[in-house]
Amino acid sequence: MNRIAENLASVKERMVAAAERSGRPPDSIKLVPVTKGRSISEIQSLLAAGATDIGENRIQEAQQKYDPIHSFLAASNTRKCDWHLIGHLQRNKVKSALEIFSLIHSVDSLRLLAEISRRTEVLKKQTDILIQINTTGEESKFGLDSEDVFDFMEKSLSYSSVRIVGLMTMGVLSPSPETNRPAFALLRTLSDRIKTEKYPGITMQYLSMGMTDDFEVAIEEGANLVRIGRAIFETTV
Ligand SMILES: *Cc1c(COP(=O)(O)O)cnc(C)c1O
Repeated sequence: MNRIAENLASVKERMVAAAERSGRPPDSIKLVPVTKGRSISEIQSLLAAGATDIGENRIQEAQQKYDPIHSFLAASNTRKCDWHLIGHLQRNKVKSALEIFSLIHSVDSLRLLAEISRRTEVLKKQTDILIQINTTGEESKFGLDSEDVFDFMEKSLSYSSVRIVGLMTMGVLSPSPETNRPAFALLRTLSDRIKTEKYPGITMQYLSMGMTDDFEVAIEEGANLVRIGRAIFETTV
């Protein structure tokens, strides 16, 4: 096995153990390997090792990778690959984003939501998105403030071509995974409260939280979509 396949297997084992600790079936938690900054050949190794999803944070980088990756998939008779946009999205990039990504994790304003809706209607399809929440209160972070979430959900109801299917957050960079446990617990609580409001068309199917340094804690707190880069692509994490 090559390094990427080995790392992928060990990340999956750690996910299974964390799922079991939190009393959930391991296959209910989805891994999104984060491929930003990684080469085409690294991504090919990842897909050959069985990954079915990739996460990118920049439109331009994703555009450059899209054709080579899909030619590789076609040539190797491999199953499909779903692209996840995990970075901030500017309104003038929405059109390009919709051509590539099947799930946008980072919607954090009504203006952006409105533009995604408008572009989606032109394409006569539906777009699945997650709402990014700033659960750590850092000024520098993208994401809605948690107290604005319910107002946002109300207002989002007029954009019916966009389906809100969950929430996403990022913890702070910290050597200790425990640092982000309260932020992850907050996202989980918000998602539970949104569920009880029963907004028509809004589901809380996904909680996207947890990265290399804290994904096990995130799973313990209810994550079912984890975004992991370094633990898969780097030798020693
Ligand atoms: C880079 C990135 C990740 C992955 O981070 P690692 O620490 O490499 O696992 C996850 N989510 C977002 C939004 C990112 O930008």
